[in-house]
Amino acid sequence: MATVVNPADINPRQVANKSDKKALLDAIRMTLSVQSPAVRRNTQTFNRNRYAATALLPDYNELKDRARQIKESAIAHLPDLLRQLEASVRANRGHFYLAKTAADANQYIRDVLVGHEAKLVVKGKSITSEEIKLNHALEAAGITVAETDLAEFILQVADEQPSHIIAPALHYSRERITALFKRKFSTDLPLDTGEELTKFAREKLREQFIAADAGISGANLIAADSGSLMLVESEGNIRMTTTLPPLHIAIAGIEKVVPSRTDFGTFIELLPRSGTGQPLTSYVSILHPPLKAPPFAAPGKMAKPRQFHLVLIDNGRSRMRENPVLHEALYCIRCSACLNSCANFETVGGHAFGGETYSGGIGGSWEAGTGKLLNARFSELCTGCSRCLPQCPVRIDIPWLNENLRQRMNFEQPRSAAKSAFGVMTGSVREDRVAPLQKQFFANYHVFAKAATGFASLANAVTRLPSMRSLMENVVGLDRRRKLPPFPPKTWEQLYHDQPQRAAASIAKPGIPAVLMFADVFTNYGSPERGMAAIGVLREVGLNVELSPSLPDGRAAISQGMIATARQQANALAEMLAPYLEKGTIICVLQPSVLAMFHSDYAHLLDAARWKKFAHARFLEPLQAVLSIAKEHGTDLSQIFRASKSPHGTRVFYHSHCQQRSCDAAWQTVEILRLCGFDVVTSSVECCGMAGSFGYKREYYELSMAVGEDLFAQVRAAEQQGGARTLVASGTSCHEQLWAGMGREVMHPVELLVSTLG
Ligand code: SF4
Ligand code: SF4
Repeated sequence: MATVVNPADINPRQVANKSDKKALLDAIRMTLSVQSPAVRRNTQTFNRNRYAATALLPDYNELKDRARQIKESAIAHLPDLLRQLEASVRANRGHFYLAKTAADANQYIRDVLVGHEAKLVVKGKSITSEEIKLNHALEAAGITVAETDLAEFILQVADEQPSHIIAPALHYSRERITALFKRKFSTDLPLDTGEELTKFAREKLREQFIAADAGISGANLIAADSGSLMLVESEGNIRMTTTLPPLHIAIAGIEKVVPSRTDFGTFIELLPRSGTGQPLTSYVSILHPPLKAPPFAAPGKMAKPRQFHLVLIDNGRSRMRENPVLHEALYCIRCSACLNSCANFETVGGHAFGGETYSGGIGGSWEAGTGKLLNARFSELCTGCSRCLPQCPVRIDIPWLNENLRQRMNFEQPRSAAKSAFGVMTGSVREDRVAPLQKQFFANYHVFAKAATGFASLANAVTRLPSMRSLMENVVGLDRRRKLPPFPPKTWEQLYHDQPQRAAASIAKPGIPAVLMFADVFTNYGSPERGMAAIGVLREVGLNVELSPSLPDGRAAISQGMIATARQQANALAEMLAPYLEKGTIICVLQPSVLAMFHSDYAHLLDAARWKKFAHARFLEPLQAVLSIAKEHGTDLSQIFRASKSPHGTRVFYHSHCQQRSCDAAWQTVEILRLCGFDVVTSSVECCGMAGSFGYKREYYELSMAVGEDLFAQVRAAEQQGGARTLVASGTSCHEQLWAGMGREVMHPVELLVSTLG
């Protein structure tokens, strides 16, 4: 980890460009030390509000499907829509300019403003103007730009880049804004409340609105058939920006164009709910510029005739559109749901998990698409947990976008003999052998785990040696502060085959389907007893369970951007599972991250025919299978697993895995535990922060533990209200994180249920 004297002294602009890896590490430390409390509070509030607001939408899923379909079709027909839009704008007597690059856009806007002898411009609601660095271009031409969104105003005063796509100054606490205004404006006015701060800013801004020669706005959407702009906002400043001055320039990326005004409705339903959780923002404007009403004229001044310019910006978007993966980012409506539902983003915000303009899970694709690939390095903070997937109103597969960015960044690395040799030894596919040693190590964890399990006592003794931890930290970046779980003397496969096999057949009930338990590598080499407990629970409800061979599933490789290696592993696994899928066997998957692979990631790794079989197969988390079978066959689970008999007590704290929730496979565990008599408190955090290899990495250990702090705090709060609880979690990573944070053993729900059997 890079050494920084005092992270609090770093200005966010110094670490906005993450092409230099040190900037990313410095940014993480800076945000953790200064911004984290405000970012957490604000993003988590948006997140809670979004859950509440979208839950009230009876047709939420259909709305998302419609939104996706509108965007897919609009991007597919973009050249035609742009031609149609140009004709509409000109028919309205507006001006239309399609800028190929940021420099083109800046030049055009500067020329228009200079032509109007504009000296002062009010601006708002345009992150695209941040992308093209418009303010710098205009200021260089002697034109003053006044940001009119309160948040943008704060950032302009502080000279910082946005940290969030809809709430750019969300990293500021009220106290920090007070200190900033007092310092920059040298004022003694009382600025201790939100009202006082807003009043102060409003008075400063009002002067600018009255004096402005031109207004620059963005646009949430633009209708090709009419040239209408849709703008959603909370403060009313956009209405003033677009209506008071005689000259209005609207700037937007070309991806904002949709066929018709009738398409706006779907997005008006989704955008505010997905962003802040409001059913509607305070102001929704559908403008059809240039307006007919005369513009404002200050007393003693002549009102000039209105003029409107629509500046559409390409700046890499056409290249994104041609890219088979990156084009999906063009569907983004910039709602921020993916930021607010992301545990890493909630902890550090967009000054670490973001670049010069765009932030969060989707931000990497935008930085890479409109700027430089390496500035998307912050997308390493996407752990692929998939919590944002169900939250995105246009169903963008954000983790897949980031895995592809990671692959492209791997390919930017120089080849070396050491990396190639390491790749050959560990099984990386040839093209992935360019990836750094750390990535190849984590991608091929199963190779090391297999070897270590063969000599478990020796491996456990050696990996505890400080010299070995230091070596591992230096060579493969495994942080020495992270406690390593011990390797077991026998694998899951070995324990299973040691058991008398009559057990399965003898307890199977007629009419109950066969189950293949998938022996994932994490359980096979890390927690074989847990795997056996899962088989035990499934058999208790009468299922005929067989254990599969243990094969890598590609999760570890894909998360390192080693997509070719992941694809090879996925295909080998699909081959092994094929006969079971043919027979309609239920496949139970203990590890939620692997379940998520089978549910969605394999769509990218398998060919269409193979994926079709996967898409129709029944992949279930074990307790999902148990509840489903129990309901189907009227089995009373409380008579099989009696909580009162558990030596661990009946009071538990349960944390479900992030991907288990994304796969809708978490609530079943809670229902079973409660049915069986356990008193269950559940965690509400989006992710524990461990996220597979992420929390092991030297660069991200501190962030991982900071994310985990929300979970640890929830455990402490639950226990303060009535005593200790047994910690229960469904993912291997969550176990390791809770173990590290709480210093106590953690059980899996299946182990808890087995413990009731006596
Ligand atoms: S996949 Fe997880 S870590 Fe990545 S952006 Fe989405 S929520 Fe964040
Ligand atoms: S990727 Fe989806 S969730 Fe994220 S900002 Fe864009 S539309 Fe919203």
